[in-house]
Amino acid sequence: MIKEQNAGYTKFRRKLVVGYLILCALLFALLGWKVLSEYESDRQAAAAVTKNSARAMAAHVGEIIDAVDQSLRISASAISALDESALTPDAVLPLLAVSSQASDSRHWLLFIDASGKGVVASSGLPVRDVSFADRSYFLDASVIHADQLHVGGPAIGHVSKRRLFFLSRRVESPSGKFLGVIAAPVDAKRVADVFERARLGPEMSISLTMKGSMIVARAPLFEESFGADLSGLVRPNPAVLIEGTFEADSPFRGERRLFSYTPVASLPLMVVVGVTRDSWAADSRSDFIAGLVGLAVALIVALFSGRVALEQYMRLERVEASQRKLIDQLHCAKMDLARGERRLRMIADSVTARVAYVNADERYTYHNTGPSGAPSGASLGKTLLETHGPEVYEAIKKDARQALSGERVDVERIYVVDGQSRCFKHQYTPDFTSEGRVMGYYAMITDITEFKMIQKRLLHLARVDGLTGLPNRAELLDRLVTALARCRRTATAMACLYLDIDRFKEVNDTLGHAGGDCVLTEFSRRLRQCVRESDTIARLSGDEFAIVLEDIGRSEEAQGVAAKIIACMAVPFNIEGQLRVVTTSIGVALANPLEDDPRSLLRAADAALYRAKRAGRNRLES
Ligand code: GH3
Ligand code: MG
Repeated sequence: MIKEQNAGYTKFRRKLVVGYLILCALLFALLGWKVLSEYESDRQAAAAVTKNSARAMAAHVGEIIDAVDQSLRISASAISALDESALTPDAVLPLLAVSSQASDSRHWLLFIDASGKGVVASSGLPVRDVSFADRSYFLDASVIHADQLHVGGPAIGHVSKRRLFFLSRRVESPSGKFLGVIAAPVDAKRVADVFERARLGPEMSISLTMKGSMIVARAPLFEESFGADLSGLVRPNPAVLIEGTFEADSPFRGERRLFSYTPVASLPLMVVVGVTRDSWAADSRSDFIAGLVGLAVALIVALFSGRVALEQYMRLERVEASQRKLIDQLHCAKMDLARGERRLRMIADSVTARVAYVNADERYTYHNTGPSGAPSGASLGKTLLETHGPEVYEAIKKDARQALSGERVDVERIYVVDGQSRCFKHQYTPDFTSEGRVMGYYAMITDITEFKMIQKRLLHLARVDGLTGLPNRAELLDRLVTALARCRRTATAMACLYLDIDRFKEVNDTLGHAGGDCVLTEFSRRLRQCVRESDTIARLSGDEFAIVLEDIGRSEEAQGVAAKIIACMAVPFNIEGQLRVVTTSIGVALANPLEDDPRSLLRAADAALYRAKRAGRNRLES
């Protein structure tokens, strides 16, 4: 049973663990899916924001460059109309000033001649005969087509010491001869300021980079980032001037950023707008943390619930086991009870008596098979009346009621069974509840007919002399009691004769003991002849007899009976062919009913007998 219990418990625990793991996996998958989808949507939102910002900034930078380039184009066109020998500061400066006034006044222009020497600057800086031959905005611009705008990389101004990038154009004569380069430095800080104002938050960075990924202007960290090389960072190759988005670590602060880049018109520039992942992924991260906490709580609750369920299961198992044990015990007890009941039934059925149970409605609820000859008809569920009929019921009703009132009943009843009169002993024992209420009674009805007959026989034998068939001393004493009482009641006289055979020992000696018995038997027979039927003759012992004479008229009547007896015995006894004279002495005592009792009357008669013996025997005395 314990093994079964453990197996069941292990199975249940395995199911719980598997269920728990499935739950964990599902919850983790759900959380992962939710966080990833939120992350992705936040990422797309951030990408849209950065892309829009990059487009806007690219347009803005394009406008700034356009404005400067317009000056460059106008100035270049004006200068190309001059003769090479006329390219003096005085001749060129007005052309530069006009040009710059015609466009954006916040920049200035510089003209460098074909040898790389500075001619004039619209800002008034002393550039005359300063060599710009090694500057990329001169070198690169000198070899490109006159229609092309050259955008130079970030550089620190030689004179102004400001952070700049140069726009330059080749200037050539109408015949195509190279006259020099006109260049306009653009203050990178100005662009960075625009970016700074356009930033949507501190986590956003906006950069203007060369197509070779050199930073020209950036907000924030303008100064630190100026000229920084991003070639290893920006992907895909910015030489392909298309829009795009990518993620990378920031080269300045190291944090992860999402970047969108957009080319500035058809120039080798692009605007890169980045936002830190922490900013745009903050919601999904906090959702992830909240989800993780919720998941942890759910798993702890599930774990706790699982533990509680296991404990409950164990408790139920224990209860079930104890119930099973109780049921087993109950089953065993029932079997024992059934066995005991069968045994009792067999015992009850083999008892030579009718055993039954009668409930408070006087109905039989149990009875044994009973002995044949017992009062039959008792059947289960039937009442006493239905079972026995009105006549018997009337006889036993009183006893039944007495038992149902809580009294024990022990009576003998005589019924006629199969034409024979039989005696039954009824013993009813009330059945009490623990509160003292009578629920019914147990009845045991025994056929005591034989017992009664034997008892009667034994009683008879106890009071009758076996040799002569006369009452013995005990019977005589009882009859004397009755006789004395009757005598007192009727005021009549009565007497008691005490007889003893004379010299009986000699009879025994001569005729033997058997001959002596024959004498005693004959003696008794003759006594019966001498008295009335109603008188009592008893053999007291050996050769002693007593006779009770009732209702005698006078006292002499008793002496007369005694004399008659003496005369009767005078005829010789024929004992087995031998004639023998047997005499007797008789003591006569008249009763005084008011004073005498059986013993005193017998004593008086015995005393008279003694006198008769003393007087010579074969006589009477009173
Ligand atoms: P007495 O005249 O003085 O009476 O002399 P007795 O010989 O008769 O003396 P007693 O009455 O004392 O003796 C009675 C004898 O009766 C003694 C005993 O052996 C004998 N006896 C007693 N019971 C029986 C009996 O049942 N059968 C026979 N055969 N003899 C008995
Ligand atoms: Mg005698």
